[in-house]
Amino acid sequence: MKLYKAGAAVAAAVALALTATACGGKEGSAGDTQAAKPGQSGAPTLPTYQVASTVTLDSPVFAAAKKRGKIIIGSKADQPYLGFEDQSTKKRSGFDIEIAKMIAADLGFGEDKIEWKTVDSGVRETAISTGQVDLYVGTYTINDKRKQLVGFAGPYYKAGADLLVRKDESAITGPDTLKGKNVCSIVGSTPLQEIKNPKYGAKTTELAKYSDCVQQLLTNQVDAVTTDDSILKGYAAANSGKLKVIGKPFTQEPYGIGLNKDDKALRDFMNDSLEKHIKDGTYKKIYEGTLGLSGSAYVEPPAAVRY
Ligand code: GLU
Repeated sequence: MKLYKAGAAVAAAVALALTATACGGKEGSAGDTQAAKPGQSGAPTLPTYQVASTVTLDSPVFAAAKKRGKIIIGSKADQPYLGFEDQSTKKRSGFDIEIAKMIAADLGFGEDKIEWKTVDSGVRETAISTGQVDLYVGTYTINDKRKQLVGFAGPYYKAGADLLVRKDESAITGPDTLKGKNVCSIVGSTPLQEIKNPKYGAKTTELAKYSDCVQQLLTNQVDAVTTDDSILKGYAAANSGKLKVIGKPFTQEPYGIGLNKDDKALRDFMNDSLEKHIKDGTYKKIYEGTLGLSGSAYVEPPAAVRY
């Protein structure tokens, strides 16, 4: 199967937009603000992660990673503040990237022992179940359908589907105003599934990458983009003054770390790791230094629920 590679031109457009945001003008509301990038001066300092030295775990995936000397982590590359790859430095940043680094460190893998693979929404289950990635951290909603194919640790965050529109849009004010509108979303994502419900009366444009949907919105080819509010806020912040998030979430999207369905030991380990770092404040620091910069208020994560 094919893992989608980051669309270089579009990723570059997002990167440019991020740079422009950092240097650009400042207005009042979310999406207009001059958001710092994760790790940039002015952004809250991100934690450093203690790399564990002796980890023993009855997990085939862990054993294979240990033997290889690297852990392979699937993530997104075009979601600013969540899972983003800078096209010039190849450095990855964002909330999901930091969560992945935190877990990898607990498993004994420092940043230099992580091999990142960009895996878009439509191919996640295949990438995990065929062992192309050891773990997957990328705005990945836990649900029953996916649980038949993959395992999940978490949830470590709760998002909700929302709408991204152009700044001057006045007809679209929520999901109940989408009749006849062209809404872009991503193959294999839960918000696309939702918006195809005939009750909304929307037309859909279905692409492989969110950044391509955002490009189509900026160039007037679609009327709105739908996916999780956490993702959309990042695009609004990265395209300062041009786009806005409606702010009426209409689904629940609990994020989990995807892994092999049968690897209970690894799943339990990651759940323990998440709980530990929610308690010790690492999680909150990560949040404030990444997702918090694009305008999402901090919400205590749902630590107690395990899958
Ligand atoms: N969280 C939703 C999902 O897993 C939408 C975001 C995404 O496509 O990654 O489908």
